[in-house]
Amino acid sequence: MNPPPYPSDTKAKGWRFELDIDQVMQSDTWAVASPELRPWLLMIWTVSWQQVPCGSLPGDDEIIAGRIGMKLAQFAKNKSILLRGWKLADDGRLYHPTITQRVLEKLKNKDKYRKFRHDILIRDGYRCAYCGAENIPLELDHIIPRSRGGSDNPENLTLACKPCNSSKGAKNLNEWMDGK
Ligand SMILES: [Zn+2]
Repeated sequence: MNPPPYPSDTKAKGWRFELDIDQVMQSDTWAVASPELRPWLLMIWTVSWQQVPCGSLPGDDEIIAGRIGMKLAQFAKNKSILLRGWKLADDGRLYHPTITQRVLEKLKNKDKYRKFRHDILIRDGYRCAYCGAENIPLELDHIIPRSRGGSDNPENLTLACKPCNSSKGAKNLNEWMDGK
């Protein structure tokens, strides 16, 4: 028994795949891979990120080779190195501990963000802080934009409807009000 590490509908939508180059270069897999194979390793990790669930690979050589654009014969010959560390789970897909850890971190952050957003929704009464609109989708808005050094602290965040948020953009509140 080897259950998959996270739900099968885990998607990378909106998640950046940050390759930790130091970690990659220090890995045993990198050390044993010939220079010609190294770009393919990066391809495999990148492709796995876009799969559903995110960070997994189908347990099928032909599909993996096709996804990364490698000839099947070449893939088969180098499979032991290319798929080093990937383990088959009960859902018939392959998971790699390093990538799994990355996905679990992202999921944890997503939960944290949900809770954070929920607290601000309650604090600000489920309405747009600028036009007062209610019962519409609300986004978190940085009162002082991040690009101007605004923080992610709750004091710098409020709720905005889509039209207000996109119209305000990267302006700070005073500039935006002046332009109205
Ligand atoms: Zn609004």
